[in-house]
Amino acid sequence: MELTKEIQKLKEERNALILAHLYQWPEIQDIADFVGDSLDLSRKARDTEADVIVFCGVWFMAETAKILNPRKTVLIPQPNAGCPMADMVTAEDVLALREKYPEAAVVCYVNSSAAVKAVSDICCTSSNAIQVVKSLQENQVIFVPDRNLGHYISRFVPEKQFILYEGYCPTHEKISLEDVHKVRAARPNAPVLVHPECRPEVVDAADFVGSTREIIDYATAAKEQEMVIGTEIGVLHRLQTRNPEKRFYSLHAAIVCPNMKKNQLVSVRDALLHMQHQMELPNEIRDKAAVSLRRMMSLC
Ligand code: SF4
Repeated sequence: MELTKEIQKLKEERNALILAHLYQWPEIQDIADFVGDSLDLSRKARDTEADVIVFCGVWFMAETAKILNPRKTVLIPQPNAGCPMADMVTAEDVLALREKYPEAAVVCYVNSSAAVKAVSDICCTSSNAIQVVKSLQENQVIFVPDRNLGHYISRFVPEKQFILYEGYCPTHEKISLEDVHKVRAARPNAPVLVHPECRPEVVDAADFVGSTREIIDYATAAKEQEMVIGTEIGVLHRLQTRNPEKRFYSLHAAIVCPNMKKNQLVSVRDALLHMQHQMELPNEIRDKAAVSLRRMMSLC
């Protein structure tokens, strides 16, 4: 049987929901019930009636789905799909910062482990980070793990003092200011849209900065017919599907997250067939991490 048909059949038998991040391969996005960025996917995971969630993304995303749905079965097709940025900070690192800055609130980007979320005060995504930080009463903010996102949002909240952790996304970090200059020379009429995980100088040189969902919404509404995209290449599939008359170009030839690309159709089929690989978390970590996530979700 054709792989996509087999997945469809198994999905119905298991009463499963397939969630896919926008950085997944096009064929995975096409078989998913829902495709979105971290915040959209967290909401879908929270609200689903399905018995099983197949999470096509990286490890911390499947953890988030499990934290929000402790009684459901959450499957991650490729358990070795991690996130190097999430791995840059540990719960011990956060606790050390808390000791050094006892007055500060800890905000953790959702791209972090459950253990880090469990010792943070509140989570954020790239869509809601400014709103989250503005909601805090504390004047000092420890932001982990992404220094670039932290730097970007700090500009919108000048009244607060930021302590930025030195983590970064190796995929977005590859984009340089020179890439922006080159693309502007080659395509002078195309706006440059970038993700806030990019370096500050790239963000400064861009025409629009936003989460993957915000980039898609902006590009869809824009009057320009061609645009340059500075985020993981998987987003181009969604952009092109929603806007067949427009042309989208990647800001850098290799904005590919190797971890996001580990999931294949065959691993999604095998996950449903064998009910593998099931996400499990220690109760204490899961319950504490849920507090940080739910606090964020109550705001937006
Ligand atoms: S694109 Fe960057 S932040 Fe996202 S999963 Fe890959 S390494 Fe992690």
